[in-house]
Amino acid sequence: MIFNKILILIFFCFFTSCSSVISYNKIDMTHKSEKEEMRKQGNFLVASMASASRKLHDIAWPIMKANIDACINSRINAFGLMIAHSNDLQVSLRPSFLSASPNILVNKNTYSDLPMIISVANDSPANNADIKEGSFILSIDNTPATSINYKNLLVQSAKKERLKIEVKGLKEDLIYNLNSEVICGYPVQVMVSPIPNAYADGSKIYITVATLDFIKDDQEIAFLISHELAHNIVHYKGESLEEIEAKPLPIDDKPSLQRVGDLFVFQSSTKESEADLLGIEYALKAGVSQDKVANYFRRLSIYMPQLMDESIFRMHPGNAKRVTDIENRLKILKNKYSN
Ligand SMILES: [Zn+2]
Repeated sequence: MIFNKILILIFFCFFTSCSSVISYNKIDMTHKSEKEEMRKQGNFLVASMASASRKLHDIAWPIMKANIDACINSRINAFGLMIAHSNDLQVSLRPSFLSASPNILVNKNTYSDLPMIISVANDSPANNADIKEGSFILSIDNTPATSINYKNLLVQSAKKERLKIEVKGLKEDLIYNLNSEVICGYPVQVMVSPIPNAYADGSKIYITVATLDFIKDDQEIAFLISHELAHNIVHYKGESLEEIEAKPLPIDDKPSLQRVGDLFVFQSSTKESEADLLGIEYALKAGVSQDKVANYFRRLSIYMPQLMDESIFRMHPGNAKRVTDIENRLKILKNKYSN
């Protein structure tokens, strides 16, 4: 009997140790493939943020340029560039930095410690000079660019309204001389969030990453940017930021109230309606049609039917009222900005 028990015990120990060995191997293997998958998802995240930034940058540029008469106190000199350095990312995502480039312009491993031009806005001075997205910056106004000095150097160039920038090209290094253009100084950034929405905090404009999947036409994005621009100009009277303050890879950047005074800006249904109506005008002024904006709100009512009607618990008017007001204003503005 005792012998049997010992035999069972020996067998059991052998069996467990064997299974343990197998499971250790398994854990190691899983761990390795999990690490590889983490890296893949990191690359995908960084590439997606960069591509969202490029889209927002292209849509925002003409709006910020066409409305300088409305942002008298927040104008800046800009070149149409969004730039990032790998240090802008959290440590675990830094190996994915090169995924932010849409092009393979250089031997990527060699120049990964230089700042990278993530986005060039359509029809901006940088775009007209044919600067390529994904280029690494070698020098700014003859000073070699580093992770520490590049932002300051670009602020100085904006002050001088001129920028001499040297980038690493595919075959040779290229030098560009740019003259700045005046735009409204409210950088537009993508924001990590699973809900379609947009925010303004007085200095920046945030469009959630879910919005980019939700919209069916770029003029809807133009409307959202213009609506938030109206909040920044009219309601926050926000302070402008330099072009280089725009983060093209803002994994954990969120809207913040910049000034104590902004805490007392009371959001109301009236202000939201005002931002809607000014918003369509800002977008039209930039040459972007707004006839499909109504569809954005109609689609929003499929996801959130409770938003159709007014509620005392929300600061936004109901989607039905917003569309009716926007369509009425569009009829009036149609002749003014026929394009
Ligand atoms: Zn609003």
